[in-house]
Amino acid sequence: MNKNNTTIPKADLVIVGGGIFGCAIAYYFSRNNPDKKVILLERNELNNAATSRAAALMTMVRSKRSYIPLTIETFKVAKEMERELGETLDFKNSGMLHVAASDAKVKALEELMQIAKEYNQEAYYISPEEARKKVPWLKTDEALKIGFVPNEAYCDPYMLGTFFARCAKRQGAEIRLGVEALGLLGEGDKIVGVKTSEGNIHTECVIDAAGVWAPILANEAGVGLPMAPVRSQYWITERSELFPVDSPMVLLPDAQAYARPEGGSLLFGIRESNSVVESPKKVPRDISDFVFSDDDGMNDLIENGEKLARFFPGFYDIGIKYYVAGFSGYTPDSQLVLGEIPGVKGLLIASGCCGAGISVAGGVGLGMAELAAGRINPFDYSEFSVKRFGEIDSFSNDWLERCAAARSNKVSG
Ligand SMILES: Cc1cc2nc3c(=O)[nH]c(=O)nc-3n(C[C@H](O)[C@H](O)[C@H](O)COP(=O)(O)OP(=O)(O)OC[C@H]3O[C@@H](n4cnc5c(N)ncnc54)[C@H](O)[C@@H]3O)c2cc1C
Repeated sequence: MNKNNTTIPKADLVIVGGGIFGCAIAYYFSRNNPDKKVILLERNELNNAATSRAAALMTMVRSKRSYIPLTIETFKVAKEMERELGETLDFKNSGMLHVAASDAKVKALEELMQIAKEYNQEAYYISPEEARKKVPWLKTDEALKIGFVPNEAYCDPYMLGTFFARCAKRQGAEIRLGVEALGLLGEGDKIVGVKTSEGNIHTECVIDAAGVWAPILANEAGVGLPMAPVRSQYWITERSELFPVDSPMVLLPDAQAYARPEGGSLLFGIRESNSVVESPKKVPRDISDFVFSDDDGMNDLIENGEKLARFFPGFYDIGIKYYVAGFSGYTPDSQLVLGEIPGVKGLLIASGCCGAGISVAGGVGLGMAELAAGRINPFDYSEFSVKRFGEIDSFSNDWLERCAAARSNKVSG
């Protein structure tokens, strides 16, 4: 029953979570199934959590092949939604520089250039002089090889998330804000609905797209999701002529760092040696006032700054204006957690973004929507299987530490 004691109509699909994953799924499901009813539940505002905090590098060419088709779909759907709404998403097609300064990273870069070829993405090597011309802050003395992928982009992640939601609404999706999923309704081995703060909703299928809180709902169905909330953080410098607005993004795997322009400033991230991890049950429902770091990550910057200064000598002189942090769902193998759960009918999972959820949102949305409609998934989700680590306890300290280690070791943006 809802607040007015009226019966809530049965939905074909209920999506829990209005971040970019939930919004993208609602978009594709409502587009491809105009005769079916989809309800998206968001307890706060749309895209309030990880999505609005992302640095939003849309990296297409990466060593993890499983992500590439999903990201290509994001670029495709972005154009379609721009046409649909008659507005621009204003993607910044700046391209990406990959700087390799050790034999191991040169080998990885050579493999990456091969991967770009496989997926028909333009990519070529450039000289240190050319690189410095494109990126004035970059010191290239130690670079052994520099690759350039011209069609890479970054975007406004909040806008991309809301484009999905706005188009979904136009196509008939019902988006209910301020409504919390409190639990699942089950009959035998099948999930048949969701308990919400406004009463029960019966449905053929529930998708748990609750971001770092996804393990809490999955736990209701006896499923341990293989992911954990791990902090990501980045800094934005003061403005300087060193940071032209149209210069490329830069990946520095030898420094475990990335950077991109941010309207005349530089946005950069660098991996800390020990990533902060939290139990999903302890992450507050509204993270807008959550303190991710007492010192705005300054200790981490001091500890790791030397690695970055090898490539960015101005690092110690430039002022830092902003600090941004948030939780993303990390897994030990840095793969997503997507799809069906063996032995549980009526519940699908869309989570475990590993800090790449903006870039892969298109492929997550389309694949999940097709699975929810009982059709064949156009993407290969085999590496994202929910049960690939066997039975796990998503809330145990050992598990949380395993997931945090995956972020500390991450070398790409
Ligand atoms: C600092 C930072 C930098 C990042 N940089 C990048 C990047 O450069 N490139 C990239 O691709 N990705 C990046 N990411 C990752 C990206 O932001 C995430 O992968 C993506 O936003 C995940 O989307 P989501 O929908 O799964 O989660 P979220 O956006 O967190 O959404 C989950 C939603 O579920 C809602 N919810 C939870 N429980 C319930 C419930 N019980 N009932 C109702 N609603 C509920 C929450 O309120 C929330 O709105 C970054 C993340 C961070 C934090």
